[in-house]
Amino acid sequence: MLAVYYDEFQKTPWLQQVPEPQPGDCDVVLEVKASGLCRSDWHGWMGHDPDISLPHVPGHEFAGVVVKKGKAVRNFSIGQRVTAPFIQACGRCAYCRQGDQQVCNDQAQAGFSYWGSFASRMLLKRADNNLVVIPDPMSYEDAALLGCRFGTAYRAIVHQSPVKKKSYVVIFGAGGLGLSGLLICQALGAHTCVVDPSLQARELAKAIGADLVVNAFDEHLIENVVSWSEGGAQVTLDGVGSSAVLNPSLACLRRRGRHLQVGLLTSEETKWDRMSNLRIVAHELEIVGCHGIQAHEYQGMMEFINETQINLSQVITARKSLADVPEYFFSTDSPTRAGVSMITEFPY
Ligand SMILES: [Zn+2]
Ligand SMILES: [Zn+2]
Repeated sequence: MLAVYYDEFQKTPWLQQVPEPQPGDCDVVLEVKASGLCRSDWHGWMGHDPDISLPHVPGHEFAGVVVKKGKAVRNFSIGQRVTAPFIQACGRCAYCRQGDQQVCNDQAQAGFSYWGSFASRMLLKRADNNLVVIPDPMSYEDAALLGCRFGTAYRAIVHQSPVKKKSYVVIFGAGGLGLSGLLICQALGAHTCVVDPSLQARELAKAIGADLVVNAFDEHLIENVVSWSEGGAQVTLDGVGSSAVLNPSLACLRRRGRHLQVGLLTSEETKWDRMSNLRIVAHELEIVGCHGIQAHEYQGMMEFINETQINLSQVITARKSLADVPEYFFSTDSPTRAGVSMITEFPY
């Protein structure tokens, strides 16, 4: 079968014929039907993720059909449409037992700790603990989004923040994470502002319905946002992962506000400036990290999507074949695009 494959960090991947995966006792093999191209795949390829060993096949935001299963898998069968969170939790550690599988002590992660979904077939470990059946009306593309970007934004905003009707929320970055966050905040009735350096990304955020969009390089960014939000936002969300975001994000918060760190902070130079240091204490700011979503929270998330009539496909801006991925996605000058690009064709 074909897979997007690399044997060296920062060297352009290629489409490689590799053997089809075989399931261990607790695993399934999926025929991949949709796979999002997420910034974490790019970070992994850049060499920022210590869990990746070479050679590697990335991809962690996926949906597909079960085509093989291990003999110990009880809850799922061949032919079912399924997806899973990007963390495949162990189900046994103290965190899993208390329902916090998103911070499992012994995580497996397809696309990081083993080969992932940039391939026509993929292994999914620990199936019984982590697979989720896709309800009939939901497309593979929408289901794939739940595994990383939409799911993480949902957990951050709905479970890890006080966002409610008429709250002011500032979202930094109009990629898949930020736009998912925008949809969720709108569904909750919050006032929304999206900050992004790209005009195309800001236009997309505006089209989806952001109340205010601001250029990340606007020298009056902070004062404009503070004025719009009547003294600062209750919640800000970093959907990028950068100290260039962290400091303005903290400055846009009102007292006792909460900064949600969702984008991965990987660079060595990430630091809070002096004003941030003062504000964290004097304004009692909270900084909360968010790491995906548990499989057992999918049902609530799917009900939320249904009840609020969120249209997830609005954030999908490009559909690609697996064959396009090496050139389209992997270049060291850090391509960031508005919305989500999704692999929807998987040549075998
Ligand atoms: Zn991701
Ligand atoms: Zn665990």
